[in-house]
Amino acid sequence: MTRAPSQTIIHAGTLLADAAQGPKRSQSILVKSGKIAALSDGFVSPPEGAQLVDLKDKFVLPGLIDCHVHLTGQFGPGYRLRVVEESDVKRGLNGAYHANLTLKAGFTTVRDVGALGHPDTIFALRAAVAEGKVPGPRILCVGTILSPTGGHGQTYGYRQDVCACVQSASGTCDGVDDCRRAVRRQVSFGADAIKFVATGGVLSNIKAGIDQQFTDDEIRTIIETAHGLGRRVAAHAHGADGINAALRNGVDSIEHGSFLDDESIKLFLSRKAYHVPTIIAGVTALEMAKSSPDMTPAQAEKAFMVGTKIKEALARSHKAGVTIAFGTDMGVGPHGQNAREFAFMVEAGMTPAAAIKAATVNAAALLDIAGEAGTIATGKSADIIAVDGNPLDDVRTLERVKFVMACGAVA
Ligand SMILES: [Zn+2]
Repeated sequence: MTRAPSQTIIHAGTLLADAAQGPKRSQSILVKSGKIAALSDGFVSPPEGAQLVDLKDKFVLPGLIDCHVHLTGQFGPGYRLRVVEESDVKRGLNGAYHANLTLKAGFTTVRDVGALGHPDTIFALRAAVAEGKVPGPRILCVGTILSPTGGHGQTYGYRQDVCACVQSASGTCDGVDDCRRAVRRQVSFGADAIKFVATGGVLSNIKAGIDQQFTDDEIRTIIETAHGLGRRVAAHAHGADGINAALRNGVDSIEHGSFLDDESIKLFLSRKAYHVPTIIAGVTALEMAKSSPDMTPAQAEKAFMVGTKIKEALARSHKAGVTIAFGTDMGVGPHGQNAREFAFMVEAGMTPAAAIKAATVNAAALLDIAGEAGTIATGKSADIIAVDGNPLDDVRTLERVKFVMACGAVA
C-alpha cells in the first residue's frame, strides 16, 4: 500500500455514495488526509498539488465490508496437515497474505470472527494494517471463538495434546462463571466484538450435530457480559434452537442461520438483530464433501446437512424484512473471492441494491463503524472502490473490482 497523498480528487462517472439511495452521474470526491473532505456535482478541477484519479468511465461505490471472515486460515487441500505443521507466526503471515487479497477484491473492512491459535495473531495483524505496515482492509476481530468443551470451533481428531497446542484454550468455557470470564478475557486481549457458538458447526471434526451447544444460561451470560463491556455479539448458529436462544437473549447477529424458523423471524424483527448468511460457505463445504478427500466423515455429514440451506434461510429472512449484513466465512472458501456471495444473495431474492446495502450501510451499522465507513460522505474514511459496468444491473461486476482506495491510499 502506498501512503496517501495529502489531497486527491476523484472524478466518478457514476457514484453510488449511499446504497440506500440512487446513483448520481458525474461527481467529484475530494479526499484529504485519508478522509472524504467534500462531494460535488460535476468534475471539479484538482486543487494545487492534489492528485487526480480519473474514474469517469467507472461506477464508484463505498468500500465493501465483510462481517464474517477468518483471515489466518484457508480450508482446502492439505488443511488437516497444515493445522499441525504451522506455527502461529506462520498463520499471522498467511493472514497478511489473505488480507491483501481481500483488500484488492474491494473489501476495505472485515470482521475476523475467529482465529486458530493464539488470539495475538489476529490482533497483531489488525495493528499492522492500521499502522499502514501491511496492506489489508480495516480489521475488527473477536480473538478466539467462545465454545463449550466439545463444541464447534475447536480442534479434534489428533492426539489430545496436539489438539491442545493447536488451539487457544482461552475460548473454551463451561458454566456461567467460566463464560463470563471467557468474554472478559477476550476483551482484555483486545477483542472488538465477541463470537460464540450457539450450535454445532460444519468444519469442526466431531460428530456433534448442528444443534444448540451452549445452554440458555451460558448464552445469556455471554451476551450480557459482552454488552456490559460495550462489545457486540455474533452467534454462530445453524439449528433453530440455538438461533432462537441467542436471539431471545439479545444477540446482535446470527451468523449462517441455516435452519431459522417462524419463531426466529419474529425474534429477529422484535430484537432488531442482523442476519449474516454466508451462503458461499455452505456451498463450498458441500462441494468439498462431494468431491474432496480433505473432508473427514464427521465434517462431510454436517456439510450435507447445511449445504444450500443458508440460501433458503436468507430468502426467508430477507422476505420477512430482517436486516441483512454481508458475510462470507472466507477461510472456508477462498480469500479474495468474497464478492461471489453477492450473486447468491440475488439468487435468494435480494435486489443488487439491497445486497450492496448489506455490504456497506448495514454492515457498518452492525460493526458499529457507521461514523467512518459504509457510505461515501463528508468526514468518513476514504474507502472507495470502482468497477466497470453497473453493479445495480449485474451484481457480478463486483467480482472484478478495478480500483480500491482504503483510508485515502490507493491499494
Ligand atoms: Zn465462520
